[in-house]
Amino acid sequence: MPDSHSDRDHAEFSPSSLKYVAGCAGFQGRGGTSAAAEKGTRIHEALEIGDPSNLESEEEVSIFHEIVAEEESFLQNFINSSSVSGLEVKEDLKEIQLTVELEGTSTWGTCDRMVVFNNNTGVLIDYKTGISVIDPPEKNQQARAYTVGAFQKYKDLDEIVFLFIVPVRNETLFHTFHRSDVQTMVSDLSGIIKQGEVTRPKWEAGAPALEELTPTVNCRFCKHEDKCPALGGLVIEVAKKVNPQLPDVDLEETEDPEIVEQLWVIAKIVSNWSQRLKQRAVSMALEGVEFPSLRLKNMGTTRKITDNKSLIAIAETYGLSLDDILSLASIPLAKLAKEAGQQAEKGSKKKISEEFLDACEDAGILRKSEPRFTLS
Ligand code: SF4
Repeated sequence: MPDSHSDRDHAEFSPSSLKYVAGCAGFQGRGGTSAAAEKGTRIHEALEIGDPSNLESEEEVSIFHEIVAEEESFLQNFINSSSVSGLEVKEDLKEIQLTVELEGTSTWGTCDRMVVFNNNTGVLIDYKTGISVIDPPEKNQQARAYTVGAFQKYKDLDEIVFLFIVPVRNETLFHTFHRSDVQTMVSDLSGIIKQGEVTRPKWEAGAPALEELTPTVNCRFCKHEDKCPALGGLVIEVAKKVNPQLPDVDLEETEDPEIVEQLWVIAKIVSNWSQRLKQRAVSMALEGVEFPSLRLKNMGTTRKITDNKSLIAIAETYGLSLDDILSLASIPLAKLAKEAGQQAEKGSKKKISEEFLDACEDAGILRKSEPRFTLS
């Protein structure tokens, strides 16, 4: 019984993370799981055993069937278009673990399927179940790493076709690699991983130097995003556009009140801008605009009772007493205190409101939060 996809270990610099490490040597994935990752795991497990019965939605079943159909049609075409008559499958492996030996380092990963033919060619297949844009195999570090691993494992192969099946994007991406491509790919992959091996450990003792880090759109997937000095550097660049006199400062260290105040003002401008940008992007998606990788996600609606008496009557028909309801209710204290004041004579309304609050405090039923502060 193969291990389940979700329990599987990953190499420190796994093939699927190399795109990000190539973009920034300080990149490190967040780990953990998400609804999309769990969906991907279920579909991969179903494809591995050829049985969709454990899938949890029509969408998952549809992705499963699309991948099966695309894969079979691709392999059939591959056989039909071969110049070799009587091309036969020598090996057909699912979930093949590939070790990638590099220059002074190595990595490994698990490719979804590998088919080896009797004419020294092979097809490597990887399924992508999400909406993200996938780089074509010739530019894709994951595909390049798996291909190197496959050439190293199968020494007789002269050609490997790498295929990504991306049903949600309605895409199949493929490229033919030759054994003569291996040396260049080994050099490129070695460079990426070795740079990562130098830079990543520096997070353990603080942070890598600024010049070792390269902010990209993929910072959103990096576990160091919230403390990365390079992203602080971007903020300083924005700040300098607003105030060119601003000196180079370390955001975490500066205590100069004038500089901190200028940064505060800029932080407000940027956060207001980002709020508007996010609202605009959601509106565009609601109007039907498709983004390369962002998907509209329904966050649900909020619900509010408009008639408390009717609510109590309904709750009672379900066996709930008034005490049950009150034990769950959250009553707006400020509104209630104001209402108590409204019952008093003109001129003493405020005093009565305050007395009401004092009475609650004296009764020991008032819990105050820590004071909250802002600057204005
Ligand atoms: S957050 Fe920092 S370390 Fe992470 S990818 Fe971005 S620049 Fe690199």
